[in-house]
Order: sequence, then structure tokens, then C-alpha cells
Amino acid sequence: MMQRRTDHLTALLERAAEGGRLNHADGLRLYREASLHDLGAAAHRRRTQLHPSREVSYVIDTTINYTNICNVHCSFCAFFRPEGHPEGYTMSHDEVLSRVEWAAAQGATQIMVQGGVNPDLAIGYYLELFEKISRRFPGVDIHSLSTSEICGIAKRENLGVDDVLQRLRSAGLKSLPGAGAEILVERVRKRISARKIDDDRWLEVMRVAQRLGMPTTATMMFGSIETDEERITHLDVLRELQDETRGFTAFIPWYYVPHKTPLRGREATGIDYLRVIAMSRLYLDNFAHIQASWLTPGLKLGELALVFGADDMGGTILEEKVVTLAGSTNHATRKDLEGAIRRAGYLPVIRDTYFNRREYPLATTA
Ligand code: SF4
Repeated sequence: MMQRRTDHLTALLERAAEGGRLNHADGLRLYREASLHDLGAAAHRRRTQLHPSREVSYVIDTTINYTNICNVHCSFCAFFRPEGHPEGYTMSHDEVLSRVEWAAAQGATQIMVQGGVNPDLAIGYYLELFEKISRRFPGVDIHSLSTSEICGIAKRENLGVDDVLQRLRSAGLKSLPGAGAEILVERVRKRISARKIDDDRWLEVMRVAQRLGMPTTATMMFGSIETDEERITHLDVLRELQDETRGFTAFIPWYYVPHKTPLRGREATGIDYLRVIAMSRLYLDNFAHIQASWLTPGLKLGELALVFGADDMGGTILEEKVVTLAGSTNHATRKDLEGAIRRAGYLPVIRDTYFNRREYPLATTA
């Protein structure tokens, strides 16, 4: 990778740091050729313009992986079990509710109910579950189900995505996480998750949800087989949809940990992570929030991400299994997250799913 500054590279960094739009070729050039320091400095400058306060937010949340039965069989996933497998499970409503209760007692304001695409589960399972959660825990936002699960329900019930989302929304589903995006490029999806919905379908589900008034996040799983160019293409398609809908609240890039899964690829490093965070801030000029997704790189890199363009520390993810089973061993308490934010020179604040401040005691006061 060439890292010598040219006039053109300097001009690109300057434009991006001031919020100017980069085209694909310029983005790729910056991503490949700018030094880590220059990229990080430009991204931090842009982040500071957008979020000048000395605060960094995080959400108290939990992920409830309610079923591991899945008919999609992604090659990077160590969590799922095929139908009929003796280790397959599906939680009863009471089991999910007791986990929500536990999380709410710790201050959680967001739950992510997320699992496999389980063809045995009718839409009634979700409708009843979300109604029960909304009734018993009105202070907890249901930010749940991936695009793949939504499409799985639509297929099973022979309904349109629009119908499914409207019914789920009436039951209490407020917003969708951006899960299942991986890399929104057909070549990559065919290689790593051939049975998953394609890139156009992922974007379509997001578009429908956002038009219904349900905010969503967007993610990127990098470090499998994608090229640099495909990473920028992924940012392109998200930026294009955001221009159209303004429905994405945040972008969350994270990298694949291959230890316990068959898929082998580029094996991303901490440096890649920081470059992607910085590039996301500079390229996604219409996204307000870039999250330091600390779960796979670890909290130390998450802390560094806060000076490479990220403005939010994500969530506590009290009970996550999908990424953990693939080999990530990172965990963080609220105290850990707040410590990382303070070490980066910021003050921790607690937010809800939609980036509104929530008044809740911090875990640390130091
Ligand atoms: S990543 Fe999701 S869709 Fe893919 S196999 Fe795992 S649980 Fe199923």
C-alpha cells in the first residue's frame, strides 16, 4: 500500500474532512493510499464538526438469540443449527420475557430479538411475543429481527414484506437492526451465504421499513472474501439508499472472526478496522452516527475508533451469542464501556435506540 501524500490525495482528504462527497474512484483511492494517520485525522475532523460536544453515547441493550434453527446456513456462522439438529432450540415466550425482565432490571432500553431463519415459526409467534414485551416493558424498545428473518416470515406466510412489517410494527416492533448486510455485493454474498436474500432484497426490506417510519441501522461485515473495491461499493449502496430515505440512524462496521467457522478470507486486523471506521465517516456523508463496534476488535480498538471517526460506543450487548460462538471472546460491562469512552477523552452518556439521551445513572463517576 502506497502511503506517500500526493497533491491529489491531500485535496481528497481535505474535501472529505469538510463533508464533501467522494465518488467511488476517489473513495477507493483514499482507502487504499492514504496513511492510517491521515485517514484517521480527516475522519476525526469530520466527526468533530458533526458532533462537537465532548460526549460519547452508548445504549444499554441486550441481544436475545431466541432460536438457533436456521435454513440459510451461512458459511461464516457457527451459531445456527439446521432443522432437526439435536442442538437446535427455540425459546418459549416466557423464556424470552424473563431475559427481557433481567435486562430491564439492569437499565436496558433496547432489546434485539434475533436468531436464525426458522421455518417452523409462524408470524403469530412474533406478534404475540412483541405484544407481551410491549405491554410488560413499555420502557424497552424492540429493535429486532434481521432482513433475513423478515423475509423468512413473509415466505412462510405468503405475505409481502410490507404486510409483515406493518403487522409486526402494530405488535410493538419499532425498528430494525441492519444485520445480514455482510457485503452488499452479489459476488460476495453468493460465496459466503448463497442461500441468503440477495443484496437488492436486503435494500428493499430496509426501504420498506424506513418508508413505514421504522428507523434502521446499517452494518457491514468485512474481512471475509471481499475486495477493497467491494467494501467501497457496500458504502455506495448504503449512501444511495440513505439519500433516498434518510432512514438509517447509524452505520456499524464489524469484522469477521473466522476461528470456529469454515469460511477463510482476508482475516481483518485492527488496522483494517480503524481504516474502515475512518472511511465510513468520510464516505457516508449522509449518516449522522458511526458506531465503534467493539465486539470483535475488542474494547481497546473500540476506544481508538472514537478518534478515527466514530461518535458512539454501541451497546452493552449483555447476552450475545452469534458473534461470540464464531470465536469473539470480547465482553464489556457498562463500567468497561464508560472507562473506554473516558480514556478516549470523552464523557459517557446513555442514549436510547434513536439517539435520544436517557437519564440513567452512569456505572462510573470517576
Ligand atoms: S448468520 Fe443468520 S441467517 Fe446466516 S446461518 Fe447464521 S443465523 Fe442463519
